[in-house]
Amino acid sequence: MLNNSFKNKNIWLFDLDNTLYSPKTGIFSQIDFRMKKFISNKLKISENEAFNIQKKFYKKYGSTLFGLMRNFNCDPEEFLRFVHDIDFRNLKKSDSLRKKINFLSGKKILYTNGDADYAKKLLNALGLDGVFYDIFDIRKTNYIPKPMKQSFEKLVSLYDLKTSEVVYFDDLDKNLKTAFLNGVTTIHISEENESSYKMYIDFRFKTIINALDMIIKSLKIKE
Ligand SMILES: [Mg+2]
Repeated sequence: MLNNSFKNKNIWLFDLDNTLYSPKTGIFSQIDFRMKKFISNKLKISENEAFNIQKKFYKKYGSTLFGLMRNFNCDPEEFLRFVHDIDFRNLKKSDSLRKKINFLSGKKILYTNGDADYAKKLLNALGLDGVFYDIFDIRKTNYIPKPMKQSFEKLVSLYDLKTSEVVYFDDLDKNLKTAFLNGVTTIHISEENESSYKMYIDFRFKTIINALDMIIKSLKIKE
């Protein structure tokens, strides 16, 4: 089945955090830490209490920000500025990642719960500037995050996507569910072998490079 899975695809959706770079870079842990700080400062509570709220909202809504907006009328732009004020030094430019993504024909779209300003900085740090046709960020959905259905629906309608031609990479399995149910080919990027969303995952790879290698190999096979 592998050989035919990617033949007629022409839209490639990439999640950003912990998908285009490894969790081992510590980039996302910096953001995670700053979210806790933000909540603790804003609500004037201890970091422990802030952490509980952060995780509760993340679990319930898909993003901490959405919970803060809904429950505390939080200014989303203030939150996004604060949490993304991080150190990018651990990221390295990757020629090979750039080449492999460019090998795919069709449009590549970045699909992130972050904002486009942060995404652009990160893409620059990874040497991926100019690779993506567009960045579908959290502002484009009026801050409604993945994995909510409305987020995916907005994406599909904005770019007028034919879902059977779409491949989607994400490190969070729950984000893949709606896409899968709508006919998208889903790829989970994870070191874990277990997932309670297995039925919504077409392929799983440890890294984005592994996934792209497999796809490129399958596209090169002549019949
Ligand atoms: Mg991610």
